Amino acid sequence: MQDRSETEANDRTAAIIRSNWQRVRDQVADACAKAGRETSDVTIVGVSKYVSPELAAQLIEAGCKHLGENRPQHLWAAAEFYRTKSDQPNADQPAVAWHMIGHLQRNKIARTIPIIRLLHSLDSLRLAQALSLESKTLELTLPVLVEVNVTEDGAKTGLPATQLTSFFDQVAGLPHLRIQGLMAMSSLAADSSAIQREFEQVRLLRDQIQRQFVGMCQLNELSMGMSGDYREAIAQGATIVRIGSLLWEGILN
Ligand SMILES: *Cc1c(COP(=O)(O)O)cnc(C)c1O
Repeated sequence: MQDRSETEANDRTAAIIRSNWQRVRDQVADACAKAGRETSDVTIVGVSKYVSPELAAQLIEAGCKHLGENRPQHLWAAAEFYRTKSDQPNADQPAVAWHMIGHLQRNKIARTIPIIRLLHSLDSLRLAQALSLESKTLELTLPVLVEVNVTEDGAKTGLPATQLTSFFDQVAGLPHLRIQGLMAMSSLAADSSAIQREFEQVRLLRDQIQRQFVGMCQLNELSMGMSGDYREAIAQGATIVRIGSLLWEGILN
């Protein structure tokens, strides 16, 4: 589903989005409780890729402080819309952190990295080098997650687990990147225990890489879990869940 909803933002959509946001927060809190974890241990990134910048802004106003987009152009548009809106005098707008969760082409780096709090999808050495170079130019240090593919189906993006150590060997020392953890998607297999095993594998990989690169990076974050599998992800230690569809129920059809 990549075409953005044509739904117009109005009071009705604002009310639906507020109630969806509340429900998702409650469900994530419930999943945390079941996993014996604190609600504050898990950050919800609301994924706005299905909707217009206007509707994304309504999600922020409902209280969602982290927004994720999987396409750079969508990220720019949503961030620009919200920034312009909150520049208005007397506007008491909440601050928002933007997350790039999809593939980032190198020619989109310069315009993307000044906007984002975290890039979830570092998946190649060439991208890492280009990001480090541009971050140097912009005099910033870019927080990133390395995207790993632990699924059996092989259809997803991300680095195979077998390449992770050599990848970290090459990127952990890049001065303008701060690698904060791993990102992964499950194969969304029907079977909940298979999904849990995939997420468990991501956590174990993180632990292993952390031991190997202790002192070079601090891998505290695990970005895993979406609308269909956030419970399994939270049970396996996710610190960031990326929720789209559940937040737009009643808006998209
Ligand atoms: C779309 C997307 C999500 C959100 O998926 P939902 O199933 O709609 O919650 C999460 N992560 C990435 C990388 C995505 O592209």
